[in-house]
Amino acid sequence: MQDSSYPSRTPFVALFDPPYHMCSQEVYGDYYRGCGHFVKAYYSGEIQDCASQYCYNSSQHVHKAPNCPCPRAFNDNRRIQSMFHHICDACKTAAFDRLTRRG
Ligand SMILES: [Zn+2]
Ligand SMILES: [Zn+2]
Ligand SMILES: [Zn+2]
Repeated sequence: MQDSSYPSRTPFVALFDPPYHMCSQEVYGDYYRGCGHFVKAYYSGEIQDCASQYCYNSSQHVHKAPNCPCPRAFNDNRRIQSMFHHICDACKTAAFDRLTRRG
């Protein structure tokens, strides 16, 4: 027996889920629900200090050694400017390439 009334769940995509304390920088862009991609437009320069002693970018960072093991990467604090229901340009191009490629 086939269940045709499969619930159409809208998958919630966690856009911002920091695994640990880490500074984040604000990035603006567009979100494409069709493929779930966030296409970055620009970084606003806004930095959110996590105030952790064990984050290289934090103002509270305690280590003086240049090669301490603290994370140096920033988290992307995503700001969605526009939400689209279709797929992003990169995915569109990829899909088009697949369609037009002979083989
Ligand atoms: Zn930090
Ligand atoms: Zn450190
Ligand atoms: Zn995409």
